[in-house]
Amino acid sequence: ERLVGASADGEDQAVEAALRPKDLGEFIGQEKVREQLDLVLRAARARGATADHVLLSGAPGLGKTTLSMIIAAEMGAPIRITSGPAIQHAGDLAAILSSLQEGEVLFLDEIHRMSRPAEEMLYMAMEDFRVDVIVGKGPGATAIPLELPPFTLVGATTRAGLLPPPLRDRFGFTAHMEFYEPAELERVVHRSAQLLDVEIDPAGAAEIAGRSRGTPRIANRLLRRVRDYAQVKADGEINRDIAGAALAVYEVDERGLDRLDRAVLEALLKLFGGGPVGLSTLAVAVGEERETVEEVAEPFLVREGLLARTPRGRVATPAAWAHLGLVPPRQAGG
Ligand code: ADP
Repeated sequence: ERLVGASADGEDQAVEAALRPKDLGEFIGQEKVREQLDLVLRAARARGATADHVLLSGAPGLGKTTLSMIIAAEMGAPIRITSGPAIQHAGDLAAILSSLQEGEVLFLDEIHRMSRPAEEMLYMAMEDFRVDVIVGKGPGATAIPLELPPFTLVGATTRAGLLPPPLRDRFGFTAHMEFYEPAELERVVHRSAQLLDVEIDPAGAAEIAGRSRGTPRIANRLLRRVRDYAQVKADGEINRDIAGAALAVYEVDERGLDRLDRAVLEALLKLFGGGPVGLSTLAVAVGEERETVEEVAEPFLVREGLLARTPRGRVATPAAWAHLGLVPPRQAGG
């Protein structure tokens, strides 16, 4: 697992529970989402109703699970957590839906990865709080309608565009979560440090925030690694130098690039003069699979404006040369 990967590993899962903001007031950043969600939840509470279904879209580690728990807490409702890939058959979904309590929040992570029959069952459940359970097979099969208590579905997806429109349309409220600004991540780092009982100064927090790729989960993970370093190599307190030295050990640079990201950029610049070069060639040059380069390294490099995917191949931007401290070769005739 990469230190700068956005998906949760085992250690994250163990620690994250302790670091999760418990209400909207504690949730850092995402101002628009918070403001809108606050209105949705207040209005539902005032009506004594169950909140509308909520769709949260955004990259991993931006706080979708956390927000779903906050929705439940703000509504004073229990929460059930599951995911699209965990629901193989419509029957799995029927079992979950029929055991929900009135007002319960059902958090369905990676909702775009649900099976088709389950998805169709979900349409009716969301709209009419009803499912048809099919009993038997073939010509003798019968649909038994089952009433459900009103519940709030909170769906999470990395890209709302991946959802079939009939599903997307059944959400009363859709929130798009953006990557966090460095200043917001600094606040995340300070807050987490306090909860973990670690001393950190503002420059230390800024150093970690700047390397966290706009993602609170990564900020929290880097903070833990820096804490280890501070304990072993210093007096446990984190400042700018300690954070920088610790993350140098883990090969996460000032901009949050790790060894793989840098290897891809370096090959592109040093071996291919900045491109254009084909993906396969680039992958061979760094000794990785095509998919690894394309899916693991490139998205962040593109987002950071260091690499461009063009019809003729991968091309480095001027920022890439600057980041690696290299000078682009002079253009012919230039
Ligand atoms: P997702 O479900 O989008 O993958 P999570 O909700 O699991 O992300 O968040 C990952 C970690 O980041 C959690 O430990 C959570 O505490 C932290 N986190 C996410 N968003 C925020 C935020 N806005 N403020 C503070 N911490 C956050």
